Amino acid sequence: MSDYDPNNIFARILRGELPCAKVFEDDHVLAFNDIHPQAPVHVLVIPKGAYISLDDFGARASDTEIAALFRAVATIARQLEIDVSGYRFLANHGTNAHQEVPHFHVHLFGGRKLGPMLSRKTTE
Ligand code: AMP
Repeated sequence: MSDYDPNNIFARILRGELPCAKVFEDDHVLAFNDIHPQAPVHVLVIPKGAYISLDDFGARASDTEIAALFRAVATIARQLEIDVSGYRFLANHGTNAHQEVPHFHVHLFGGRKLGPMLSRKTTE
């Protein structure tokens, strides 16, 4: 696995070098609105630790960090009142999933009917 890039955009947000529209923060997690929202609710939930992707997070993060991320997602969904209407929780890992930012993040989508889970388009 390649090394974590400390200058990726989410690392810079975590250091306060770039702004974000914060919706949640605790000791292990930061969550903020996606800059190009694809649904009325589109929040990115990221660990504060330096993890490249879900693969890296799953391999190296502590149980506390992993639990904190899952709890944060559920808390944010309730906070944004999409827990009853429903939401989607998605993580892109690597090239085939089109991961753009090499700091592990999950997308939380809601606020409208989200349609099928995957696009029918299989190539770019
Ligand atoms: P992914 O393709 O899973 O790596 O998703 C990266 C996401 O980060 C995209 O949905 C972008 O719109 C979002 N994004 C990139 N830069 C920023 C930023 N500065 N603030 C908030 N969201 C961002």
